[in-house]
Amino acid sequence: MFPQKPQLNRFIQPLTHLTCFSCNTENSRPFKDGDYVFKEVEEKCPKCGSTKMLITGIYIEERQLKERER
Ligand SMILES: [Zn+2]
Repeated sequence: MFPQKPQLNRFIQPLTHLTCFSCNTENSRPFKDGDYVFKEVEEKCPKCGSTKMLITGIYIEERQLKERER
């Protein structure tokens, strides 16, 4: 059997938004397997260096299909 995903061949890169527990700085990074909203993750805060952050949202950025004319 060759299961085919219908029309999911576009590159979709979800973004995970994180909030630092210490300073409430918001940060985002590419989605990782196992991420879910309100999960505590070990992620280094770019501002205060804390390694405890909370996932506050996961967004899917769908790249629009814009064909460039050559
Ligand atoms: Zn911080």
